[in-house]
Amino acid sequence: MQLEFYGGAGEVTGSCHILTVGGRRVLLDCGMIQGGAVSDERNRAAFPFDAAQVDAVILSHAHIDHSGRLPLLRKRGFRGPIHTNPACRDLVRILLADSATMQERDAERENRKRRKAGGKGVAEPLYTLEDALDVLQQVRTVRYGQPVEVLPGVEVTFRDAGHILGSASVWLTLREGALERRVTFSGDIGQYDSPILRDPESGPAADLVLMESTYGARLHRDRAATLEEFGSILRDAKRDGGNVLIPAFAVGRTQEILYELATHFDEWELGDWQVFLDSPMAIEATGVYWKHAELFDAEAQDWRARERTLPSLPNLTLCRSADESMAINRMPHGAIVIAGSGMCTGGRIIHHLKHNLARPECDVVFSGFQAQGTLGRAIVDGRDYVRIHGSPVKVAARVHTLGGFSAHGDQHDLLRWYGAIPGRPPVWLVHGEASAAEGLRDVLRGQGSRAEVAAPGTKLDLGAAA
Ligand SMILES: [Zn+2]
Repeated sequence: MQLEFYGGAGEVTGSCHILTVGGRRVLLDCGMIQGGAVSDERNRAAFPFDAAQVDAVILSHAHIDHSGRLPLLRKRGFRGPIHTNPACRDLVRILLADSATMQERDAERENRKRRKAGGKGVAEPLYTLEDALDVLQQVRTVRYGQPVEVLPGVEVTFRDAGHILGSASVWLTLREGALERRVTFSGDIGQYDSPILRDPESGPAADLVLMESTYGARLHRDRAATLEEFGSILRDAKRDGGNVLIPAFAVGRTQEILYELATHFDEWELGDWQVFLDSPMAIEATGVYWKHAELFDAEAQDWRARERTLPSLPNLTLCRSADESMAINRMPHGAIVIAGSGMCTGGRIIHHLKHNLARPECDVVFSGFQAQGTLGRAIVDGRDYVRIHGSPVKVAARVHTLGGFSAHGDQHDLLRWYGAIPGRPPVWLVHGEASAAEGLRDVLRGQGSRAEVAAPGTKLDLGAAA
């Protein structure tokens, strides 16, 4: 019985861990490595196992850094089941299709470039839309709290992780001969008291815990203060007579922002605005959210029962077509535009930035982390000019960063989740940059827990480990 750390150890993306029980192999997640110059190369590299010999995958949630290499796993021979919950299945379908489309587009662009340069060789996409649709056929759904034997000797129970809709922590009971071990994998843990979703759920005792550490050394800004700030930005923006652009991730952040706009409609004086959700992918993801109201927290369930639809914004327009999107650019004022991508690396937000960024009466509101090297980061960093479609654009609009919106729990949230597991079992920290993981490790050790930062390639003998 063995656990090997592979991806998501020592870094924030590419989550994937390998369990071997009774000669069978189970993957915990199979995520894409994102960001960094060599990420494409690393995603294409051989797995440290034969994909055809993987018996099952357990998927904690739909985010691409946890699910993004599933089509590649299939392409390389994996034919087993992928276990996850129904809401995650609905979201992962959207995210994998989008990821595959981007892979195909990137390969096409590279091939055009090569042909122009008279070069040889053909760039292949990492996987195609067909690969993505094929691997979705392998998904088997399990509800939260329902134990299921995914393989002989491997029993799994998913519990709500409160991170995005359908996200889970995974409680595993592993049996090999007389040996029994309980291993808990946190997945990504959300913030307690965040809107729409329920709080992260802990569970029964475990012999070993794998815990994420994305914000292991940080505390988020207070939520109430964040909402206060959001409200005053929108009230000021109305007075100044421009547009408001909100770059947002299609899954999670978009729905949270729509919910906050709906629930603060009067307080934030939103009646005179027109709100545009300008992203076919976010529209689809929002549909999945509202379909799974059984997973909402009590407040959001009440709201939905009362208002029937969510979000109940009377002035919301859903923009599916490019024409609808371009029509927004004819509005000099009065538009709140929510569009992707969240870090302004592509998508329709680029066009809106091009039209509004140089106007001092407009506002850009960021609500998520902006990675180094992205357009979003350049704007947040306060550059006077940024390049859009190859041309310089002056940054004259007011730029705001809201600190309290995060799908990830902070150090307090992580300690609270872990602290609710009886017996403070030994914990291995994954899914965090070194400083975050080490910061959390030191706090856990200070509280008397055995804590280690996982390194890629480390193999734990689970028979000996507990
Ligand atoms: Zn995630």
